[in-house]
Amino acid sequence: MNMPPTPPARARSFSAARAALEDLFGDRFSVNRTICEQHANTTTWIAPDAPDAVAFPVTSGEVQAAVRICAASGVPVIGFGAGSSFEGHVNAPLGGLCLDMSRMNRVLAVHPEDLDCVVEPGVTRRQLEAELRDRGLFFPVDPGADATLGGMASTRASGTMAVQHGTMMHNVIAMKVVLPDGELISTGRRARKSAAGYDLTRLFIGAEGTLGIITELTLKLQGIPEATSSGVCSFPDVRTACSAAIAAIQAGIPVARVEFVDEVQIGICNAYSKMDLPEVPHLFVEFCGSANSVREQSALFGDIVRDHGGGEFAWALQSEDRRRLWRGRHDVFWAAKSFRPGASVIVTDVCVPVSRLAECLAETRADIDRFGLIAPIVGHVGDGNFHTMPLIRMDDAEEVARASAFLERLSHRALSMEGTCTGEHGIGTGKKGCMAAEHGDRGVELMRTIKRAIDPGNIMNPGKVV
Ligand SMILES: Cc1cc2nc3c(=O)[nH]c(=O)nc-3n(C[C@H](O)[C@H](O)[C@H](O)COP(=O)(O)OP(=O)(O)OC[C@H]3O[C@@H](n4cnc5c(N)ncnc54)[C@H](O)[C@@H]3O)c2cc1C
Repeated sequence: MNMPPTPPARARSFSAARAALEDLFGDRFSVNRTICEQHANTTTWIAPDAPDAVAFPVTSGEVQAAVRICAASGVPVIGFGAGSSFEGHVNAPLGGLCLDMSRMNRVLAVHPEDLDCVVEPGVTRRQLEAELRDRGLFFPVDPGADATLGGMASTRASGTMAVQHGTMMHNVIAMKVVLPDGELISTGRRARKSAAGYDLTRLFIGAEGTLGIITELTLKLQGIPEATSSGVCSFPDVRTACSAAIAAIQAGIPVARVEFVDEVQIGICNAYSKMDLPEVPHLFVEFCGSANSVREQSALFGDIVRDHGGGEFAWALQSEDRRRLWRGRHDVFWAAKSFRPGASVIVTDVCVPVSRLAECLAETRADIDRFGLIAPIVGHVGDGNFHTMPLIRMDDAEEVARASAFLERLSHRALSMEGTCTGEHGIGTGKKGCMAAEHGDRGVELMRTIKRAIDPGNIMNPGKVV
C-alpha cells in the first residue's frame, strides 16, 4: 500500500526558517496570534488550526523565495485566498507558513477580442466583476462568498451559473504555479484549446494548494448578454420543483441559473433579506440572451412550471430587483447563521446525476426530520448539486453527534446514487474520510503517488485531500 508522505515535525522546522522569512517579507510577515488565528478555518465547525506565521507576498518571485526557504527546513506552506472554504482547507495542523495571496490582486490584462483575462490569484470575484463590467464582459463562476480566483481554482469552485457556463474546471485556460521546490511553471498557454500532453492546468485545479501555489490565472470571459430576466416561482414540494427544473434542462431551454431553495430556507431568507415569499419550496431562475430569446425561454419555462404544478412566476424586471433577488440567494449562509443564535452553521454539499436529484433531496429532508435537526436546503439543481446547512449548538454533544451521523449518511447517499461527496466545496480535512468510498483504494493511491512525485517533502498544505 502506498502510504501518504510523512509530515514534517512542527517545532523543528519553523524556527529554522523564521529569520529568513522575516528578512524576505519585512513588515509583511507576522507571527501575531490574532493574525495567525484569522488565517485558520473560521467558516464551519471544524476546529481551527492556526499556522506559525502569515506572510503577504506581492510578487511571484517572493512566493518562490518563501517556498524555497520553507522547503529547505520542511516547513508547511498553506496558500490562503479569502478563507471562505468550508472543509478546513486552510487549517495548519502541522503549523507552518500561511501565504495570504490577497495582496497579489491585480488584473494584469484583459483581451476583449479573445474573451479572456490574466489575473493575480488574490483578485476576488466581485473585484473582477467590477473591473470587467464597463467593458461589457463578465466571469461566470460565482460562489456565494467574495472568494479569490486562486482559492476558487484551488477548490474547483462553481456557483449559480455553472449550469450554463461550467465550473472553474471549464473556465481557467492556464495558470502559473510555484512548485514545492520553488520553481515557477506555466500549465498552459493562452490558446483556447491544446492537445499538447497531460492537462497540467486541471491537475492544479481542485488540488486545494497541496501541489503548489498559484500565482497567475488566465480566465475565459463572457459578453454581458443583451437581455436578462430573473424570477421566482413556488412549488408544492421538493419533487415537483426538481422535476420542473430537470424537464426544462432536458427540453434544451438554456437556463442561465436555476436554484432550489426549500421552505425552511425561504422562511430564513424572508426574515434576513426582507423578502416576502410563501414558505414552500421555490426555484430562482434566470434567462439570458437577446430580448426575444429571453422572452421565449421565460414563456417556455413558465409552461413547464405550470405542467408540474408550480405557481405563477414573480419576475424581477429591473436590474436593481434582480440584484436584490440574487443577493437574497447568495446570502443564504449569512441568513442561516443569524437564524439560530449561538448555533454553528455546518455547510455541506453533495452532487448527484440530475435524474436522481429529487429522490436524493426528498430522502435528505426525511433524514433531517428523522434526526431532529434544523437544516435548510438550497441547491444548484441544474447540475444536481445541493447544500444542507444544519444549525448546530456545538456545546450540545448529543446534537453534534446527530449532525455528524446525518452528514455521513448524506455523503454515502450521494455516492450510492452515483454522485459525489462534494460537487464544489472540496475535501479539505472534513471529507477525507469519503475519498476511498468515492475513488476506490487504487484511485486514492494514484492521487498519493502524484502528490509524492510533485511534493516529496509534503510541505504543500499537508494533511488535506489525500
Ligand atoms: C457564504 C459562502 C457561500 C459560498 N458559496 C459557494 C458556492 O456557491 N460555490 C462554491 O464552490 N463554493 C462556495 N463557497 C465556498 C468558498 O467560497 C469556495 O470554496 C472558494 O473557492 C474558496 O476561495 P477562497 O479564496 O476563500 O479560498 P480559501 O478558503 O482561502 O482557500 C481554499 C483552498 O485553496 C487554497 N488556496 C488559496 N489560494 C491559493 C493559491 N493562490 N494557490 C494555491 N492554493 C490556494 C487553500 O490552501 C485552500 O486549500 C461559499 C462560501 C461561503 C462562506
